[in-house]
Amino acid sequence: MSNLDASGEAEQTGDGPNAEGPVWQELAPRAVALTPRSAAGLDGAPAADPLQVSRFIPTRGRRMVGAWCFVDYYGPVDVSTTSAMRVPPHPHCGLQTVTWLLAGEVRHCDSEGHDQLIRPGELNLMTAGHGICHAEVSAEGGPAVLHGLQLWVVLTEQHRDRAPSFEHWSELPTWQAPGVRATILLGSFDGVTSPASSYSPLVGLDAALQSGASVGLPLLPEWEYAVLVTEGAVRVDGVTMAAGAMVYLGTGRDSIELVTDDGARLLLLGGEPFTEQIVMWWNFIARDHGEIVAARDAWQAGRRFGAVPMSAAEVGQRLPAPPMPAVTLRARGRR
Ligand code: MN
Repeated sequence: MSNLDASGEAEQTGDGPNAEGPVWQELAPRAVALTPRSAAGLDGAPAADPLQVSRFIPTRGRRMVGAWCFVDYYGPVDVSTTSAMRVPPHPHCGLQTVTWLLAGEVRHCDSEGHDQLIRPGELNLMTAGHGICHAEVSAEGGPAVLHGLQLWVVLTEQHRDRAPSFEHWSELPTWQAPGVRATILLGSFDGVTSPASSYSPLVGLDAALQSGASVGLPLLPEWEYAVLVTEGAVRVDGVTMAAGAMVYLGTGRDSIELVTDDGARLLLLGGEPFTEQIVMWWNFIARDHGEIVAARDAWQAGRRFGAVPMSAAEVGQRLPAPPMPAVTLRARGRR
């Protein structure tokens, strides 16, 4: 997925609640067109309505949850008639992209030669490291309904320049308790660890709650967490949240209580607070302005990030980087 919001850095600043301890901060999503209208149409075809996504992170006052630094949520939407996902080739560096579907199919294609269809319950994990480019399209002739998430994880200083790689996991470990079954996408939860590669202490899990469930998920007090409801309605620590709502919970909790009448599904994101200062601009994460300029120049010149072996007729022309802002980008902390 591509971040078209080149002005986003300014919106990532601002003081959030003090994260040292439990907080309750509902995150208001911004509606973002996933693909610029000009790039949404295939060659010679009229531009389709671009897919609209809800961007929860980064947002004013909340930039990260652990190393999770980008949360896009979309659907459920009927892509047989409108708004198919079509994200032309674009670069990434310094981060991992996580694709997780609740419905539909998406085809991923990257400059390292991976061409992978992903279905619900499977994980696509692309570790951009020094640099990679990819394209994503909702599968033609596939299921009508698309519903899912695209998440980014910032890479630590030690790992951010590593060689790019891609992983597809069709089976992931689960954690179960009466009334709930959770799939561990990335990281660890209560002794259950995903096989997918992660480089900082974190967790991403998808929990399905049965009707009438009342469960407590064990948390680590040193970590910060957030919950995004994706189906149904659930009371999180007594506050009712419907599908499409996200709350940041802070640190200092050893459990979170989840209660649902008619069943629900949610994503739990958490991790050790990320202490490095980063610059996040367009689809790049770096540590200073100069690194962003270098990444942008390389992409514009066709260097460093490779090319996606899909034709422009299939996925559109590679996305040009937006112009650099007039101001010098400064590295910032997690809030
Ligand atoms: Mn992307």
